[in-house]
Parts: sequence; structure tokens; C-alpha cells
Amino acid sequence: MADFPTISDSESDSDHEDRVVSKRKSKSGGFQSMGLSKSVFGGVMRMGYRVPSPIQRKVIPIAMMGRDVVAMARTGSGKTAAFLIPLLERLVSHSTKVGVRGIILSPTRELAQQTMNFLIKLGKLTDLRGSLIIGGHNIENQFEALASNPDILVSTPGRLLHLLMEVTEFTLDLAEVIIFDEADRLFEMGFKAQLHDIMQRMPPARQTMLFSATLPRILIEFTRAGLRDPEFVRLDVESKVSPNLRLAFFAVRSEEKSAVLLYVCRQLIAKNKQTIIFTATRHHVEYIAGVLGAFGLPALPVYGTLDMDARQDNVAAFRAGKCQFLVVTDVAARGIDIPLLDVVINYDFPPKPKVFVHRVGRVARQNRSGNLEPCGGTFERCLTHALRRD
Ligand code: AMP
Repeated sequence: MADFPTISDSESDSDHEDRVVSKRKSKSGGFQSMGLSKSVFGGVMRMGYRVPSPIQRKVIPIAMMGRDVVAMARTGSGKTAAFLIPLLERLVSHSTKVGVRGIILSPTRELAQQTMNFLIKLGKLTDLRGSLIIGGHNIENQFEALASNPDILVSTPGRLLHLLMEVTEFTLDLAEVIIFDEADRLFEMGFKAQLHDIMQRMPPARQTMLFSATLPRILIEFTRAGLRDPEFVRLDVESKVSPNLRLAFFAVRSEEKSAVLLYVCRQLIAKNKQTIIFTATRHHVEYIAGVLGAFGLPALPVYGTLDMDARQDNVAAFRAGKCQFLVVTDVAARGIDIPLLDVVINYDFPPKPKVFVHRVGRVARQNRSGNLEPCGGTFERCLTHALRRD
């Protein structure tokens, strides 16, 4: 259970009315002009955000009006804050009345964990309480978490339903807001029935926000059935590769593939460049991580069936820069947020174009260039040189 620390008394009472900056002073299009309460605005400033990202600029005002929202946004667009800010703003402060008021559903445990961490930071100056309800974690602790009357749950659908069935007193009768994060993924992973069941348990007057990289037909049907006149926000569809991203394509014989990978990792990628390598299966992940490790390159594996703690430890070590290479499968990689990612290697060809775009969407994010300049020259020059030399 992760509680938010309580906001200081002097700030808490008049918080919601005490808007941050008067309209006259506010800079149009900035966080100042959104009419955020002091505690939420303070949370945003603590995150170091100065200017809202395009998706935030569009979604936050609509969501703060209580409207249902369907937003198409890729990872890296700032989508998490786009739903957390209006959620915090709506719930304002901890309610002593027993009952969860906000629910965030994530397709993977990692994404849920990451969203929870985000929520704790962003909500630091409020006294709202949040709990993480995900599979793989001790269920007894989650019973306790529910007993402490959280305002917000960040959850994976399976475990949330499990608890709803197990704990008679736990209902969604007071739930006001539900957010589906990476909704396309939720459906791809077969959670359709669970999502409907969860929606059925909420009051019809709820606010629903749905964030998705793509909008397949199944999602449109779900939206028609479950949302009330939603506003569609479509800025940053995952069908485009960032124009700042530099791409290099290597045609190699399959028996030379791991040798070329090793060469690229050793010779062409500077030591301070955090690199993620996508492969087709967990066997490939283990093989590649083993090969890199055997040649002295620090590489950690992440795949779906890897023990949850090991996955989290490996991602944390990578995020902390303790390890330069993370070797992953697509399923495991979804939901991992690595802000300082420099290089993406597609060791195995992505099965669909959108998977490629999602993979490389981790670089050239939020004004990072995505340019590679190893060895003091361009990537292509180095590689051409290397291949000629060999
Ligand atoms: P997300 O798309 O939610 O995964 O966010 C991607 C990254 O952008 C995260 O590291 C966020 O902390 C960061 N971020 C989100 N909003 C902003 C903003 N307005 N200004 C700067 N960074 C941001």
C-alpha cells in the first residue's frame, strides 16, 4: 500500500478554491492557465514540467470538465500526466467515506507499478491515498491496502476482479472515474470480459478516459457501448516515427547476426548510451543477454515469464544506468518506461509496422534527439567503416 503524504494544514482547506494563478496573469496554453488547485499544480512543478505536452494541453481541460475522453497517444507523449492531473483535480482530497473513487487499469504489472510511482510523485502535495492492486504481489497485503480506504486504485484487471469477488465489502459503488491505459493492449491481452465486468460494477454516471496507441474496431465498439459522448483526441498516432530518429538498417546473414550485434554493441554504441534490444522470444532474450554478458557487456533480460521481482530489479538496474543493455520481448517491454533511452535495436524484425513504431518510440522522446554519434562520427560512417575493415 502506498499512501500519499498528507498536505500541510495551511494548504489543505482552501486548496481547491485557491486557484494557482489568476486568469489575468496566466500564460495561455501553460499549466498555469488550466485552473489547477495549488496542490496539483505544485505536484506538476515538482515533476519539473514547465510546459504541457500536446496531449496534456488537449486532454486536461476536457477531462476537467468531466467529459469522457478517448485519446490516441503513444508512450512518451506525456499521457500518464494527462489522465493523472484531472483525476487528482477531481478527487481533490482524501474522503473518509469508505469506497474507491478513481480506478486506473493497466495491461501489465510493470505499467501499473510505473503509474503508481508517477501518482505518488504527482500527488505528493495532496492527501489522496492510492493503492497498487496487481497480480504477482501478495494478496493479503492487498486486502490490507483496501482496508485502509484508498481513493485511487492502480490495477491490472484480473487482480481487481479477483478482489471484487473475494471481498464482500469491496465494491465500486462510489467509483467516479475509470481510466483505461494502453487500452488496445488491454484488449489484445484478452481482458475484454473483465473490463466489461468492471464497468458494470460502476455507477453509470462515471467519467471514463481511454488512452490507446491505436483504435481497433473492438475498442470503437467498447467506446460506443460504455462511454458517454466521448471527446476524441487524436494528436500523436502511433503510425509515425519521430522525425528526429535516425535509422540504420543492416542486411546480414542469419548466422552472422549475433556477431554483428556484438560488434555494434561493442564498437559502435558509446558506453553511456542506454540501449534496448528487442528479440522475438524469451529464448532469444536469454541467448543474446548471455552472448553480450560473455563478452563483458552488461546486459539484463526481461521477458513475460521471468519472475516478477527479477523483472523489476532488471528494469530498475537499467533505469539507474547500472547496466547499458536491456534485452526484451515485445510483451515484456510494453509498460516499461525508460526516459533516458538512446538506442533501440530490433534484433528480430517486428511482426507488424505498429510494433516497430512502438519499439522505436522509446527514443527521440520529449525533445531527445534520437541521433547516434558514436566514435565521434555518424553511425552509418562508423558502421560502413567497420564492415569494410572486417
Ligand atoms: P508518458 O507518455 O506518460 O510515459 O511520459 C513520458 C515521459 O515524459 C515521462 O518521463 C514523463 O515524466 C515525461 N513528461 C510527461 N509530461 C511532461 C511535461 N509536460 N514536460 C516534461 N516531461 C514530461
